[in-house]
Amino acid sequence: MILVTGGTGFIGSHTTVTLQQAGHDVLILDNLCNSRPEVVDAIAAITGTRPGFVEGDIRDAALLDRLFAEHPIQAVMHFAGLKAVGESTQIPLAYYDNNIHGSVTLLQAMQKAGVRTFIFSSSATVYGDPQKLPLTEDHPRSATNPYGHTKLVVEDILENLYHSESGWRIARLRYFNPAGAHPSGLIGESPQGVPNNLMPFVAQVATGQRPRLNVFGNDYDTPDGTGVRDYIHVMDLAEGHKAALDYCQSLPQALLTTNLGTGKGYSVLEMIQAYAQTSGQDIPYQITARRPGDIAACWADVTHATQTLGWTARLGLEDMCRDAWRWDQQP
Ligand code: NAD
Ligand code: UDP
Repeated sequence: MILVTGGTGFIGSHTTVTLQQAGHDVLILDNLCNSRPEVVDAIAAITGTRPGFVEGDIRDAALLDRLFAEHPIQAVMHFAGLKAVGESTQIPLAYYDNNIHGSVTLLQAMQKAGVRTFIFSSSATVYGDPQKLPLTEDHPRSATNPYGHTKLVVEDILENLYHSESGWRIARLRYFNPAGAHPSGLIGESPQGVPNNLMPFVAQVATGQRPRLNVFGNDYDTPDGTGVRDYIHVMDLAEGHKAALDYCQSLPQALLTTNLGTGKGYSVLEMIQAYAQTSGQDIPYQITARRPGDIAACWADVTHATQTLGWTARLGLEDMCRDAWRWDQQP
């Protein structure tokens, strides 16, 4: 059985589907601070199997001890956490508490229970402002906001833990920009309030919930002046997690650090155009000032993931837009 923290969230729910379809039992632990319990029904509808679900917090040590005692958990995939860069500058303590204290509490419970396989959601944000592209895993790390700092710290904690005792099998997966949804249209990304990320915002413009998109700057040193990112289909990302789990479980111990991206960058304008074409909707936009802290361009070197995991992203921009649009039209 795999314990999936944050399993009703965007990436965790899609990964749960992939794990179940690969024959794993899944137990989800989520406090529902950024997701809804109906996601469990949707996962059951897609896979034909209902994952276990516990509403609870990764900072609840007693609950974790109980879960490890009562279930045959072999590995943990840790998605739970807060992820909004802007919010993290306003309430940094909540970010340090959820993301760092939460991860430490979870790791302590694992250590007590003798469960030592851990897959961690890190982020390309740990690379800071890229010195060279594409980004390889040995690129220097830095953080410009509390959210990014929590990812750096947890990466370091995991490295310390790996070296402190034998038998830990740890993957630190650095995601680029997840997009898209499950092709069934039953699960996808549901941000609360005003979306911070580009694609959910584009979706809300396409469906008429917002009048227009603000494009944050067109004076970057990129082909069309707008920011360039490596968008990866969330189902490819889910497959990457399964590959990382298989890799870890095949070794007596492991510390894997790898990018999960496609290796291709698309600009904001290219993304708007692709989504408009797929959805057949108009996406009005206006160019506004740069968003503070944004970088010009960021995309992955995927050689390491390909060579180590035998994994590579298979879905492209059209797949991401088509699957996102199917989900985005749900009432
Ligand atoms: P999400 O908000 O959709 O999912 C996170 C889930 O964790 C939510 O369901 C939330 O309710 C739950 N959660 C939060 N704090 C919790 C706690 N203390 N205890 C129990 N549950 C808790 O986010 P996501 O996009 O699926 O991201 C998953 C992970 O991937 C996060 O760690 C995020 O930082 C990381 N990540 C996301 C992106 C992205 O763009 N989506 C990029 C890089 C890394
Ligand atoms: N972006 C934008 N308008 C928005 C949201 C994002 O122009 O409403 C741009 C942003 O400046 C960046 C790209 O879209 O160039 C991706 O932003 P997102 O927040 O999705 O990801 P991140 O910046 O974290 O890579």
